[in-house]
Amino acid sequence: MTPDQRRPYIAGNWKMFKTAGQAREYAQKLLARLPMGNGVELAICPPFTALAATLEGLGGSEVKVLAQNMHQDAEGAYTGEVSAPMLVELGVHGTLLGHSERRQYFNETDRALQDKVPAALEAGLEPMLCVGETEEEREAGETQRKLRHQVQEALERVPEERLADVVIAYEPIWAIGTGHVATPEMAQDAIGFIRALVGDRSKDAADRVRVLYGGSVKPGNAAEILAQPDIDGALVGGASLDPDGLAEIVKAAAALVK
Ligand code: PEP
Repeated sequence: MTPDQRRPYIAGNWKMFKTAGQAREYAQKLLARLPMGNGVELAICPPFTALAATLEGLGGSEVKVLAQNMHQDAEGAYTGEVSAPMLVELGVHGTLLGHSERRQYFNETDRALQDKVPAALEAGLEPMLCVGETEEEREAGETQRKLRHQVQEALERVPEERLADVVIAYEPIWAIGTGHVATPEMAQDAIGFIRALVGDRSKDAADRVRVLYGGSVKPGNAAEILAQPDIDGALVGGASLDPDGLAEIVKAAAALVK
């Protein structure tokens, strides 16, 4: 298990920010700032309405575009939802699943994720599964119990040979949008634990699966987090809204590849 077997991965989650027009402008600026041949995989996660414009703006580059959510069924009477085939038709590469804001405000459940993760894979989308504990759970010593439950349940219906195609983002809820970044040691411990959980299903998948850290990652703190042995990248919220900030984080990841 070496870092060069797992390509570093940075993903920017725009949440409910940016119109299609703003997305086009952002894409141009980002491409102009990215170091060429940097060895880092990069994805942007815009709102549904800006997916097509972001894809168009990034056209011809290697930057991937992920949705922020997806329904588990291919079609149906689910007003307001979007399915995997709809995303695939647009040219979207994957989707965030189980982001804590979806769990907290929109009742996303581990039970639904058990269907969503394999549905994304079967449709040809890369699922980026988000997991993480609340501050109360951490203080009560419940972090591992929570992560075990979230990871095992969401991956239960993923066949062993597809486990390493899931990207997992460890995002402690107390660190998201708060400016309270986890220490590199805390993030390494939790991510090492998540990798071991995947290892309970398949040792090979545990070596290959990419596990990212998310929670107040910024250009100034990215390098020390990304230097941890089990941390394969970062899911970046607020700091990704500025193409300069995201490009700086990509540079921090690229510096560790060399
Ligand atoms: C996120 O939205 O997944 C996130 C980690 O946000 P922030 O970087 O703003 O904490």
